[in-house]
Amino acid sequence: MIDVMNEKRRVAIIGGGITGLTAAYYLQEKVREQQLPVEIVLIESTHRLGGKIHTVLEEGYQIEKGPASFTDHRGTVAKLAASLGLTDKLINSMKDKKFVAVNEELYAVPEGVQFGIPTKMKPFMASDLVSWSGKARATFDFLRPQNKLSNDQSLGNLLRSRLGNEVVENITEPLLSGIYSGDIDQLSVDAVLPFLAQYSNSTSSLINGVKAYTQAPEFLIDHQTSFSFIGGLSTLIDELENQLTDVKVKKSERVLSIKQLANNQLTLSLNNTSTIKADAVFIAAPHTVAQSLLEDKNIFVELKDMPLNTIATVSLMFDEKQISKSFKGTDVVISRNSDFSVTSATFMNRKWENIAPKGKEMIKAYIGRLGDEAIVELSDKEIEKVILQDLHRLIGITGAPEKVIVSRFKNAMPQYTIGHADRVQIVKEKLKSTYPMVRVGGNSYDGISLPKCISQATSNMDSLLKELF
Ligand SMILES: Cc1cc2nc3c(=O)[nH]c(=O)nc-3n(C[C@H](O)[C@H](O)[C@H](O)COP(=O)(O)OP(=O)(O)OC[C@H]3O[C@@H](n4cnc5c(N)ncnc54)[C@H](O)[C@@H]3O)c2cc1C
Repeated sequence: MIDVMNEKRRVAIIGGGITGLTAAYYLQEKVREQQLPVEIVLIESTHRLGGKIHTVLEEGYQIEKGPASFTDHRGTVAKLAASLGLTDKLINSMKDKKFVAVNEELYAVPEGVQFGIPTKMKPFMASDLVSWSGKARATFDFLRPQNKLSNDQSLGNLLRSRLGNEVVENITEPLLSGIYSGDIDQLSVDAVLPFLAQYSNSTSSLINGVKAYTQAPEFLIDHQTSFSFIGGLSTLIDELENQLTDVKVKKSERVLSIKQLANNQLTLSLNNTSTIKADAVFIAAPHTVAQSLLEDKNIFVELKDMPLNTIATVSLMFDEKQISKSFKGTDVVISRNSDFSVTSATFMNRKWENIAPKGKEMIKAYIGRLGDEAIVELSDKEIEKVILQDLHRLIGITGAPEKVIVSRFKNAMPQYTIGHADRVQIVKEKLKSTYPMVRVGGNSYDGISLPKCISQATSNMDSLLKELF
């Protein structure tokens, strides 16, 4: 008789971004702890790990081509960092002073704005970002009873009904679309800020609900604090890679298909014509990839219309003399009613220590929003020109940058539109009943932020381990 507990099982993880890497590391640690007979293989189609996370060092600059930081109010990344011995390298930004551009003017975001919602009335009332009538409209939130939310709805709809149009257009939309690069009138409350729905049903006002949420004991830090690592986000990726000593990591190998045999065993076909047999598979690549790998094309139909936004990040290096002294902030986000192509711009060196040579300023600008994605297709030179015009008008930058790095992310930002959470649930149920040993995770499903990708990785590994033993 076969000793089921001691028979070696193989788990294949597809994709070496933060989701796949965390999954491989977490599984390795569980397997060691519980002395389980499991072999782990991680397959990444490109020559490097990290996926969208990519820090590069050039001429004394530390440049984040993709994400630059994260908020970690539940300590998810901090926990992973501690396990990797990286706690000493986890840093928070030196300064966060955000401005919003409305029409041609810059206004400081009032203190106490959380998730784009004002929670401290004194600074909100003192701010010029919203007119007196807009402020008066926002206070209706304290007077009007909240509606019980039984169905998902757009963030725009919920927030407009509670706080009025002006707060939404001048504060919430520019701040949230900077994170989700989406349209607030299409983004789902349940998928993007699910706690809002919960507090809508249990508190007297939305503002009080956000306050209660951010003051709850599990909410560890001020949501506006951003974190990174000394050496940039690639420090986390490099350490994960270093510590995958019991994982077979295959780079520059693309999985082309997954076939399921009668006993639920799985066979992965790779682009180099080799195959890998596996007892369980975690697809930590976008849902479009997951769909293309599986034979049953019906599994992902619910997600086939999910909008995928194309964006680009542009890092521009200047001498500090080229920047107007009057702008003292760190970030500028742009109201969509303003006439700018840039959607946000961050002075990276004002937030993070030692990432630019002395006397230099490094600005990271974003372009591309739903409906204006053609701009990302322009040449690097054309993009630079458009951005310089905007930065000149916004923060008085003069002259040409000393260096520019453009990084394009095609169809990289999934938009969680109304009903997303339900559609994901249906997809996962179909997947589980058709392919019981296949799981999916990453930014197509339950959150795009790094902490959300990390928690999807660990929960999927727990689920697969449960099935295996
Ligand atoms: C420009 C930008 C800025 C962002 N800023 C922030 C931020 O400030 N804070 C934040 O928290 N989040 C941010 N995000 C979101 C966050 O970066 C992503 O959600 C997260 O990195 C996704 O990680 P992932 O591992 O799920 O996917 P990915 O990083 O996309 O990794 C998937 C991997 O799968 C590989 N792959 C694909 N197909 C195959 C195949 N067939 N076989 C093998 N391998 C395959 C890919 O090559 C890739 O390496 C940003 C995203 C972008 C694009």
